[in-house]
Amino acid sequence: MLQPPHSSLQVAAVPAQREPVRDRDQDAPWHTEAVCRRDEAGLFFAPSKEPTAARLSREEAAKRVCARCPVMVECREHALLQPEPYGVWGGLTAAERRVVLARRRRRDVELKKTARTTGRIAAAG
Ligand code: SF4
Repeated sequence: MLQPPHSSLQVAAVPAQREPVRDRDQDAPWHTEAVCRRDEAGLFFAPSKEPTAARLSREEAAKRVCARCPVMVECREHALLQPEPYGVWGGLTAAERRVVLARRRRRDVELKKTARTTGRIAAAG
C-alpha cells in the first residue's frame, strides 16, 4: 500500500500489520502534485472510534480538497487498482471505491459474456 499523498495520515485506522510501504510510488508524478501532501487537518483518514456524524463531515471536507486537486483521476485510479482499503482517495471513500470496483467487476463479466456470445454467432455465421 502506497503512503498516501496526505503525508500526516492518522494511522489509528490502519492496523499495524498493514503499515503503508513508504517508498513505493513516492516519486510518481501525480503524487508530487497532490493538494493533500500536507494533511494538517487529518481529513483523509479516520481516527479510531470516530462518530458517524464526524466521519461524514470529515469525509465531505476531504472530498472538497480532492475536488480541486489536479491529480484526482490518477489518485483515484491508483486507489482502485491497489486497492487502498482505507481513507479518502481521489474523492472517494473506501466504501465508495468498493462500489466502483464491484461495478467494474460486473461490467467485465458482462463484456466477457457478450464477447463469447458474439464469437459463437460469428463462428456459426
Ligand atoms: S485527489 Fe484527494 S487524496 Fe488524491 S492526491 Fe488529490 S487531494 Fe489527495
